[in-house]
Amino acid sequence: MEGKKEKISILGAGLVGSLLSIMLAKRGYQVTIFERRPDMRKAGAIGGRSINLALSHRGLKALDRVGLKDKIQESCIPMPGRMIHDLQGNLDFQPYGKEGQYINSVSRGGLNWLLMDEAEAHGVEIRFDHKCLDVDFDSATATFENGQSVSSDFLFGGDGAFSALRGAMQKTDRFNFSQEYISAGYKELTMPATKDGDFAIDPDALHIWPRGEYMLIALPNLDKSFTCTLFFPFEGEISFDALKTEADVEAFFNDKFKDAVPLLPNLKKEFFENPTSSLITVRCSPWVKGNTALIGDAAHAIVPFYGQGMNSGFEDCYVFDQLLEKHGDINDALLKEYQDLRIPDGNAIADLALYNFIEMRDKVADEKFVLQKKIEKKLNALYPDKWVPLYSMVTFSDYRYSEAIARGDKQQAIMDEALSRPGIEDNSESLDFEAIVNQLLG
Ligand code: FAD
Repeated sequence: MEGKKEKISILGAGLVGSLLSIMLAKRGYQVTIFERRPDMRKAGAIGGRSINLALSHRGLKALDRVGLKDKIQESCIPMPGRMIHDLQGNLDFQPYGKEGQYINSVSRGGLNWLLMDEAEAHGVEIRFDHKCLDVDFDSATATFENGQSVSSDFLFGGDGAFSALRGAMQKTDRFNFSQEYISAGYKELTMPATKDGDFAIDPDALHIWPRGEYMLIALPNLDKSFTCTLFFPFEGEISFDALKTEADVEAFFNDKFKDAVPLLPNLKKEFFENPTSSLITVRCSPWVKGNTALIGDAAHAIVPFYGQGMNSGFEDCYVFDQLLEKHGDINDALLKEYQDLRIPDGNAIADLALYNFIEMRDKVADEKFVLQKKIEKKLNALYPDKWVPLYSMVTFSDYRYSEAIARGDKQQAIMDEALSRPGIEDNSESLDFEAIVNQLLG
């Protein structure tokens, strides 16, 4: 790959494409984004899937690199833990990490809006209503539905889980690709503010109603509403398919999510009017072909149960920008390092996210899980650099995801052994914490 790159195209003005464009523009590249949709800022509506997202350390670190962390945190709601709602409506607050650690509920539309504004302020041109259909890799030429073709020095596919760039790569030799839908889908429901204009439930938590094979969750919004998401099987005895009438929905929710029902005044209407969406994991390699590269969901779409899709996409941007600093321009050495670093981490967070569905919908309500959290909290307090719970490695640290998964597996094996000791429920304080940590390091 020869010659200095000057003109860069990005497919997709989503969260990742917009952030990447700011980083590249700040380095002096001439950046144009091509976005399939119309400008959501002109339409005045913040539409699309999942209204709010959990933003955590990796995402914030990338935003900090372009000076936007503080501005974005101003419009976030901190969630220091999960609030578990059992069948009877009893509540159990479980902190996510140490005192002072929290994840942030942020509006997807608001964040995307701000990133697009910021991109334009740095000279990025965003061309809306440009749906890419095909890409020529060597000339970095994108062909659009409106008949236009645009060439540049380099092109990124930040065009999401059903990426057109990846679609073009899929037609080439030695391109590895897999996609897997899980059997559950999701539906969003609204929990409005109370008549007094307050939050209907505690805003300082991500709420979970774990029910084994399915769950309801809720994240707070700045307007004091909550966006609830029901993750639920598509088919089967308990499923979207099985709830056919308003009476079915009412009876089911009264049985399983009793304390939420009075707070969901539009439940029946929303249940039938709001879309039911599917959840996919996409893995592929390579992420680079000719003068093009994949980034964000286009490279690694994951299920949302670790709250890491956007965060990992932002981390892709962070790593790419660090590599630009090191290599000076987009060249073969940079692109090799980008893939070598990020493909294993994309695969690792895809695995972790699938695993966390089981943890969220099932394990958080389990006594052994709660006990493990208690023991791990103690271990982390005693040996903060040596024992870091898996959730904290993923959410509050810079450990590579692939490293987190390897360390997490090792820690889990040690925990499984400790938790299997007779009487541990009443005796966890008497564990030899030093021996446990030595086991990990040994
Ligand atoms: P996208 O956000 O999908 O953006 C892609 C953009 O490309 C879009 O604007 C699209 O219109 C455009 N585009 C698509 N095709 C074309 C084309 N052919 N030509 C031109 N433009 C095109 N992540 C978290 O970190 N925390 C969370 O809490 C979290 N919660 C989630 C909850 C749910 C229910 C879901 C579904 C996802 C969640 N995620 C979360 C994941 C997060 O939404 C994604 O990882 C993130 O949006 C990826 O950003 P992206 O820019 O790569 O892709």
